Amino acid sequence: MPPIAMLHHVSDDVALNGLGRWCVSHEKYLQLLNFIEENDYRTVTFEDLVEGGYSRSKSVILTFDDCPKELLSFAVPELLRRNMKAVFYMPTAYIGGYNEWDVQEARPKTDLMSEDDIRGLVASGMEIGSHAHKHIELEYETEDDAYRALYTSKKILEEIIDKKILTVAYPYGSVPKNHINIAKRLGFVYGLSVYNPIVSKYSIRRWIFDNDDTAATMREKMSVFYSMQRWWYDKWFVWSKQVPRYMYRKYSGLKSIARKK
Ligand SMILES: [Zn+2]
Repeated sequence: MPPIAMLHHVSDDVALNGLGRWCVSHEKYLQLLNFIEENDYRTVTFEDLVEGGYSRSKSVILTFDDCPKELLSFAVPELLRRNMKAVFYMPTAYIGGYNEWDVQEARPKTDLMSEDDIRGLVASGMEIGSHAHKHIELEYETEDDAYRALYTSKKILEEIIDKKILTVAYPYGSVPKNHINIAKRLGFVYGLSVYNPIVSKYSIRRWIFDNDDTAATMREKMSVFYSMQRWWYDKWFVWSKQVPRYMYRKYSGLKSIARKK
């Protein structure tokens, strides 16, 4: 599997500063694309992987979660200008709307892509993937509810683009219970997560590109050695996230608080 970079917003709008590391500046984004070009990496999609004929050491998959509309004014035209491709993950409940889940957590509001925008991306050679229907942490849903959230989103997207949806990126990187079973039943080829000590075809780890990245960190994050290191780091991360939740549930009974991100 080639290294997979995760991005969300690309913007110089100071109003989006509250999105923190999930919003990279235009300048930083250009550094990423320049790095890819200068090092002869080829941007591929999951469709390319399924068809074969790519090289692990010289390929990279760029993924954008949430489909903010602003990507269409800078990030996407830059990709097209350089003959690059990326995969875009849309939570279908918010198509043509805004990032309600961020706003509920006091983060800045921004418009998301419409159905036409999504069709436009596909027409220009980009790939679309499922990001569930609502932007929720699937690991706290029952298996049936997680299945329904992914089924709904896959169906809506397939109707919009008239093409099979091959992959899912779980919102917040939150991998649902029995995800292998769910993903297989739904016919997904790959499932993407973020922090994940145990990697399978349906819980593939991604590296986060943010404003602190440099050529040196990008080189490191795209290396095979980095993915080996991540096993330790991700194990710690998942543990540090789980323990407070477990304590809340066990000792306070305030399940609603424990479920809040
Ligand atoms: Zn997301």
